[in-house]
Amino acid sequence: MTRKAIVCGGSIGGLFAALLLGKRGWDVTVLERNAVELSGRGAGIVTHDLLDRLIVAAGGTTEALGVAVAERVAFARDGSVVARRPLPQVVTSWDRVHSMLRALIPEGRYRLGIAVQGYRQGGDAAEVLCENGQRHEADLVVGTDGFRSAIRAQMHPQVQPVYSGYVVWRALAAEADLPPDVLASTFPHFGLYLPHGTQIIGYPIAGPGNDLRAGHRRYNFVWYVPTAGEALSDMLTDAAGTRHGLSIPPPAIRDDVVRAAMDDAARMLPPQFATILERSERPFFTPIYDHVAPGFADGRVALAGDAACVARPHVGMGVTKAACDAEALARALERDPVPQALMAYSADRQPGVARVMDLSRQLGAMMLGAGPGVPSPDGRGNPDLDHIITHTAVVPDFAQMPV
Ligand SMILES: Cc1cc2nc3c(=O)[nH]c(=O)nc-3n(C[C@H](O)[C@H](O)[C@H](O)COP(=O)(O)OP(=O)(O)OC[C@H]3O[C@@H](n4cnc5c(N)ncnc54)[C@H](O)[C@@H]3O)c2cc1C
Repeated sequence: MTRKAIVCGGSIGGLFAALLLGKRGWDVTVLERNAVELSGRGAGIVTHDLLDRLIVAAGGTTEALGVAVAERVAFARDGSVVARRPLPQVVTSWDRVHSMLRALIPEGRYRLGIAVQGYRQGGDAAEVLCENGQRHEADLVVGTDGFRSAIRAQMHPQVQPVYSGYVVWRALAAEADLPPDVLASTFPHFGLYLPHGTQIIGYPIAGPGNDLRAGHRRYNFVWYVPTAGEALSDMLTDAAGTRHGLSIPPPAIRDDVVRAAMDDAARMLPPQFATILERSERPFFTPIYDHVAPGFADGRVALAGDAACVARPHVGMGVTKAACDAEALARALERDPVPQALMAYSADRQPGVARVMDLSRQLGAMMLGAGPGVPSPDGRGNPDLDHIITHTAVVPDFAQMPV
């Protein structure tokens, strides 16, 4: 008899889970809270060989996946180059990966506008409970409902996201809007600015509609800024005085908050990055949190992706990690009945995923200059520069898996 799975959350983690289970004969339905199709506002994603292999395993293609960059280049405050390291990678956008995987889900198996509240389970089935009163019974429930997961909140109510002490400002600039000198110094590679106390990474991604033609691409700008709790609380308050919870929707960010960030950028950043930000669409910020659940399974219910663990974005692995979780889960379910398979999945994945989170914290600490050595105020002489360049957005050996 075909086994039935309900996947809660239809972002990239949920799509990988649905597709990789579907490939193994599961009858899968995805429930997504958003009422309209998801869009990632073009956010950039660094891809890895491991992710490529999992995209193919899920039924997708890596053709025209993104923009190839051959090396990493770090700049000083005055815009000059302080380091170059070869590191070929393809950088893409969240939308590109999501839309490709979304198109592979069979008609009627991706339901928008259904918010999951929690679950119940008995001996041989589990049930997903939804805010609209619906109940969905299945052999397996997968919680891929993100870092504020309702499934995790029930499984591990004690787990709370931990604020890192910094936010990330993100923006996208159209290639056509950037002056030739800025294009020449930034577009061909993965760029970094690595003084202590702040950090920029940036790279080219496709333009709207996955347009990879020169002149039609965009620059993905990522800027980490330490922000104390009180200042963050003010930044999370909108123009009507409403204080948002853990993060604030980009359109609700107050104009004066954006203006202050732009003023800081003009004062603090290498000129090419300051220009990119100036010519970008309205930037927005996200506070950086992390967490890891102590276990990824409860009976017939599994956690995967950001619901199971959020590592800080320095490791650039959120999407790859979610895909690996899905693959490990689907494989474990080939071997054993659901509850045993989920226990094996949790024992297999949780320790490695926790290590990825630790690694992302180490990279965060290096950015803040927590280690010994002379602080670098302008991107020169940073003793951790080489480590940061070669470990940022790179899958560590221990996190590799055969696919
Ligand atoms: C600044 C930044 C840079 C990043 N850079 C990279 C990078 O370079 N490479 C990389 O791989 N990753 C990167 N990431 C991380 C990546 O975006 C996520 O890790 C990845 O999208 C994980 O996906 P997910 O599906 O597990 O969770 P999410 O993408 O958070 O999706 C959760 C989904 O569940 C839905 N949902 C929530 N609650 C419910 C509910 N109650 N019922 C039903 N549905 C629900 C949500 O609407 C959403 O669609 C970055 C993140 C940030 C913030």
